[in-house]
Amino acid sequence: MSVETKQFQAEVKEILDLMVHSLYSHKEIFLRELVSNASDALDKLRYEEAKNADLATSGDEKYIRLIPNKDGKTLTVQDNGIGMTEDEVLSNIGTIARSGTKEFLKKAKEAQNSPELIGQFGVGFYSSFMVADKVRLETEKAGSQERIIWESTGDGSFTIEKIPATGKQGTAITLSLKTFEDDESAQNFADEWTLKSTIKKYSDFIEFPIKMEVTKEEPELDDEGNAIEGKTKTTIEDETLNSRKAIWLREPKDVKDEEYNEFYKHVTHDWTEPVERVFYKAEGSQEFRALMFIPSKQPMDYNYRDAKWGLSLYVNRVFIMDNCEELLPPHLRFIKGVIEANDLSLNVSREILQKDRQILAIKKALSSKILKTLKTLLTKEREKYEGIWQNFGSTIKEGIANDFANKAKLEELALFHSNETEKLTTLKEYVERMKDGQKEIYYITGESLKQVECSPYLEKLKQKNYEVLFCVDPVDEWVLQSITKFDEKDLRSITKEGLELDSEEEKKQKEEELKSKEEEYKSLLRTIQGAVAENVKEVKLSPRLVDSPCCLVSGAYDPSARMERMMESMGQSMPKSKRIMEINPDHPVFTRMQGLAEDKQKEWAEILYNQALLTEGSPIEDPMKFSKQIANLMSEA
Ligand code: ADP
Repeated sequence: MSVETKQFQAEVKEILDLMVHSLYSHKEIFLRELVSNASDALDKLRYEEAKNADLATSGDEKYIRLIPNKDGKTLTVQDNGIGMTEDEVLSNIGTIARSGTKEFLKKAKEAQNSPELIGQFGVGFYSSFMVADKVRLETEKAGSQERIIWESTGDGSFTIEKIPATGKQGTAITLSLKTFEDDESAQNFADEWTLKSTIKKYSDFIEFPIKMEVTKEEPELDDEGNAIEGKTKTTIEDETLNSRKAIWLREPKDVKDEEYNEFYKHVTHDWTEPVERVFYKAEGSQEFRALMFIPSKQPMDYNYRDAKWGLSLYVNRVFIMDNCEELLPPHLRFIKGVIEANDLSLNVSREILQKDRQILAIKKALSSKILKTLKTLLTKEREKYEGIWQNFGSTIKEGIANDFANKAKLEELALFHSNETEKLTTLKEYVERMKDGQKEIYYITGESLKQVECSPYLEKLKQKNYEVLFCVDPVDEWVLQSITKFDEKDLRSITKEGLELDSEEEKKQKEEELKSKEEEYKSLLRTIQGAVAENVKEVKLSPRLVDSPCCLVSGAYDPSARMERMMESMGQSMPKSKRIMEINPDHPVFTRMQGLAEDKQKEWAEILYNQALLTEGSPIEDPMKFSKQIANLMSEA
């Protein structure tokens, strides 16, 4: 049979290069990756068998086998799982299909400088090249006519060869082990003890037996069964190295934290420990068990648009699918883990899952269990909860707008920045701090804490000592709009019209003052209105401001300026709603303006409008003109 030589995809070359030169000290993770692939391959085969009982492989015991060869310095990891066709080898092993490959590479390269990070990447098969200078993969797909041999030394190319099938499906990966002569701590992966302890550490819960022939030295016995001194005999026994129990089926009291954490790392490829785990066992009309985790940081691909999420689904210990999005609502997409639901059929498909009533019930149960856990953390372990919120709060918040049934619970879970506390606050805590006479809950949305902190909209509230929530997450625009009331108090955006902070008496007095000022400024206001009419629907005097001359506010039912900017950046431009320009009648600039000629008044009005845009974080249309106008002003001063 002919041997073909092919080039790796450029990205794979880079990954391989990183692996070959890796300084990562936990090189043993390659074994976890290979065993995990083997286990997936066995899962896939069992799934095929479950759907088609006539498959020839059905009766065979499924196993993974480690075959170390000390003299030949090789290690083989073999499985009798589903195997791969030539096409599958080419597309799975020679390319990286995942989304965000570039980003991935960039981070992987950064991690090369801090090698302890390399473990997070789940680089899978390629991690073999940390310990091997040549890798040979021999594989046969169940039912196929050919067997594929793939080989590479981790440089730019690999070879692929086809030979006739043997009728034994599965995959064997043989590593020619590197010798790390100048590194005394380097492990020898052809050594039985090293392999045993590595499997225990990383792969103990793998459901299929991981077998290895182990050499046992035993004292030789005489006829009466007594040990003969100085004489031993060597026997070889087949040993299963892992305990094999599906961890989610064990009672939590019997499982150590480390075991859970290892399992978490196996399912997520995360290298850090989860901050929280949630175990749920449902009995009665519907039986299922779920073992879920909250990661301690955002996964690397978390913010990619097509990042996969969801639990791994098992039915009767048969792996059905991973990334099962149907079992959790999207705002809990950071939750990782497994669920086993034995009432479902093995043939369950995504289409069925989307409509299945049982699935809906499970989803509801899991969702409330998680919300309950979060609530407990909020009340009992605030610091931990705040950490979770920093990572996943903006995701959880989406539920307030989307999950009507749990809206109230989610509102209680939400944390906000505010001008009054260093720490994050809940709405409930905000309400407890509300001042006498304060009727509403105030918030401001904006790009950054820095920007909202010095916003002119805050001036009056600061003067009144009212607390304002700072909402600087992009989702806040939607989320806050959907919380109309909390604890009977209205939520009010301080950048929109209709903000009333004064008592009835103060209001009356202000109104009178404003009326007389309006009279005084009548023609000036008309001129300003004329100058900015294109973007502003109304110019009016307002008691909102203290130090700033003016600001732009949105109509109570119009989208905020930031919402418009966000929609625009997503390519969904909406008709621009005209804003209201509110003017601080006590600001000296207007007294000055009164005395100017009309064309000067117009120019100043434009400057004031642009300044208002800048302070709210919006771009100005013609920065060139604006700078010129300012320069003119300065030279005239
Ligand atoms: P990952 O496991 O993260 O998908 P890998 O690079 O480890 O990435 O593997 C790529 C793909 O190659 C796997 O998804 C699987 O389809 C295939 N594969 C790897 N090892 C095996 C194996 N032992 N048996 C069958 N298929 C395998």
